Amino acid sequence: MTPTRQNRNSRSSILMIYTGGTIGMKEDPVDQTLKPFDFDQILREVPELEKFAVKIDSCTFDPLIDSSDVEPELWQALATLIRDRYDNYDGFVVLHGTDTMSYSASALSFMLENLCKPVIFTGSQLPIGAPRTDGKENLVSAVEIASTKDAEGHALVPEVAIFFDSRLMRGNRTTKVNAENFNAFDSPNFPNLAEAGISIKYNTTAIRKPSRWDLPLQISTTLDTRVSILKIHPGITPQIVRNILCGPETRAVILETYGSGNAPSKKWFMDIVNESVGMGKILVNVTQCLAGKVNMQLYATGKSLERAGVLPGYDSTTESMLAKLFYLLGKSTGNAWVASWIGQDLIGEISI
Ligand code: ASP
Repeated sequence: MTPTRQNRNSRSSILMIYTGGTIGMKEDPVDQTLKPFDFDQILREVPELEKFAVKIDSCTFDPLIDSSDVEPELWQALATLIRDRYDNYDGFVVLHGTDTMSYSASALSFMLENLCKPVIFTGSQLPIGAPRTDGKENLVSAVEIASTKDAEGHALVPEVAIFFDSRLMRGNRTTKVNAENFNAFDSPNFPNLAEAGISIKYNTTAIRKPSRWDLPLQISTTLDTRVSILKIHPGITPQIVRNILCGPETRAVILETYGSGNAPSKKWFMDIVNESVGMGKILVNVTQCLAGKVNMQLYATGKSLERAGVLPGYDSTTESMLAKLFYLLGKSTGNAWVASWIGQDLIGEISI
């Protein structure tokens, strides 16, 4: 982590997009329930934001949703909104519930092609109106990060990222790891992009830069959601495995395997895997472990999967692989073409 020369342009402008979740809630003094507050009044709730030389506009989704209700339509709406307002702002802050934030940040990282501006997701474990809220710190730092430029005037973090509990993480590397503490997210397989202490220290070597700064943002909003996830576990039955791997509606299945990519070596299991691959389905292997990567060469149980045509997901999170499959399947009806891209690093989501 190295402190970086920053040029906080006094005319920076940020669009803050509130989609729902705990962060935008406030206790109703009448009935003591949590209700979303009017985000146009955000400066009244977080006057600290006025201390930045940044113009902040806000925009609220209707309806506001608990992120457990997030569907790809929300990602399409977010991508479209960012594309439509792209030229008017230096960066975007997306306020989102924590439960599915990693899925949404992963999806947006693929859907926003040629992104050269920050799209920083944040939220909180406690409502912004609560005395001990983590929401203010998260929001204020996210705004600072989204508006910070380097000495050349380029965005310092031209990525889709999550800022939470003092850490900026690449969105498609994150996973929600804690349901009650402030450190709700982790990025086990990729270093933090920045850490916020007395100052924000950017890890400039980890931050992804676009190959060109002059390409227009393009969005890819056609997503094909015919993907399932099968978490392998002791006691799993042939019927369950067959229903998921050979279901007529499924184009791809993510196998969440043990350790470095191992699954049962039983004949019935491998027969179903072979049958599924024979039907033209894409099977991708990601590990159930929080950290580390799939290496199907290590054990006989992994090797049989590889021989059957199961693709390695390397160190991808499940959230990111799901989003990558939705995105790639949405681009082509040809499973062979999709399969050829699975093991490629598209936007910093895997290390190969
Ligand atoms: N259930 C909430 C949500 O994800 C929790 C939160 O906001 O953190 O929308």
